[in-house]
Amino acid sequence: MTLFQAPKGTYDLLPPDSATFLAVREAIAAPVRRAGYGYVETPGFENVELFSRGVGESTDIVTKEMYAFTTRGGDELALRPEGTASVLRAALEANLHKTGNLPVKLWYSGSYYRYERPQAGRYRHFSQVGAEAIGAEDPALDAELIILAADSYRSLGLSGVRLLLNSLGDKECRPVYRAVLQDFLRGLDLDDDTRKRIEINPLRVLDDKRESVQRQLAGAPLISDHLCEACRAYHEQVRELLTEAGVGFEDDPRLVRGLDYYTRSTFEFVHDGLGSQSAVGGGGRYDGLSEMIGGPSLPSVGWALGVDRTVLALRAEGVALPLPPATDVYAVPLGEQARRTLFTAVTALRRAGVAADFAYGGKGVKNAMKSANRSGARFALLAGERDLAEGVVQLKDLQTGEQGPVALDEIVTTVKERLA
Ligand code: AMP
Repeated sequence: MTLFQAPKGTYDLLPPDSATFLAVREAIAAPVRRAGYGYVETPGFENVELFSRGVGESTDIVTKEMYAFTTRGGDELALRPEGTASVLRAALEANLHKTGNLPVKLWYSGSYYRYERPQAGRYRHFSQVGAEAIGAEDPALDAELIILAADSYRSLGLSGVRLLLNSLGDKECRPVYRAVLQDFLRGLDLDDDTRKRIEINPLRVLDDKRESVQRQLAGAPLISDHLCEACRAYHEQVRELLTEAGVGFEDDPRLVRGLDYYTRSTFEFVHDGLGSQSAVGGGGRYDGLSEMIGGPSLPSVGWALGVDRTVLALRAEGVALPLPPATDVYAVPLGEQARRTLFTAVTALRRAGVAADFAYGGKGVKNAMKSANRSGARFALLAGERDLAEGVVQLKDLQTGEQGPVALDEIVTTVKERLA
């Protein structure tokens, strides 16, 4: 029988690379945790309507990319294609906006699913860490989230991440701009699908990646020329706070992003070392989303950073994260009595917080030492009958080759000392 393979557009995370993946998740999460965001976890699937209403009927994510299915019980569900709608749904369902301080600050980490055409950096199953601040309208909150994302990239040692920033206006000025843009777009030479999009969501046409479309968009009216006074002042404050925090950005009046729910601040983090899938993270303000999914008015802002693409960005820049070795001490027993003694020692080391492993499977010394070296451990712990008769084991420094006896009851303290 032929071996099974991972489904198209997916890949497995395996050691040693998976350690980098975990470290990236943790590095993204650390700044938001310090900023008062609490961890939220929602199901991998939701009612399909949450996404069609929340993400937008006219978005590719909903119309083309959603893994939607009917259960045996007749429920219409979809694997989550993004995190914001689920997190807001969970917060509303639990009344967090009534019982806690506003904004409700939440962060999450998990798998997301989109039926996309797979290519480098674009998968059907991918991983995001996200943060949402629900129920407050304050330019400092938009700035906070952007700064936190920038800080996490910086803490990873990435230097090639650029921040693109825009404002999409609000319910005052966006409709005016929308009409002006529609007028402009209707005059262009576009295919039927794109013409339909002009009527449903004209801003998304600006996002069209095709060269033939982009060429015609050169003179398109820009939202930045149509912001109302309130949106302009709000955006200016966000920009000032970012500048004060030393977070550089590029104004990008054409940045609209693929989701329908954004208002005012919209941003994307891009990395030029990733080819066409350059977005490593993105987000924005979504003041209308709560009402779209049946909640009260709750102006909110958030982002999601792609873990897969952040790992690719690290690779593109040649940044190796300082990862602690998986094993500090590797035990190599010679004979049955030593097996028991060293197995006990390994357990004691682990309980004392030392990463320790053991040569299982009754390997000969030569093979066991090979395993010890391959494990990346700093020390090997060896014991044979003569050592045990003397009440000691041998501690071998695998970097220098030095070796010396350690009394059985001093293994843990000695190893900890030597590792420190
Ligand atoms: P989005 O919700 O599309 O703004 O996605 C947020 C981030 O998730 C992006 O900036 C990417 O880093 C990541 N992402 C989105 N879609 C994919 C995908 N198909 N494969 C890998 N990463 C993705």
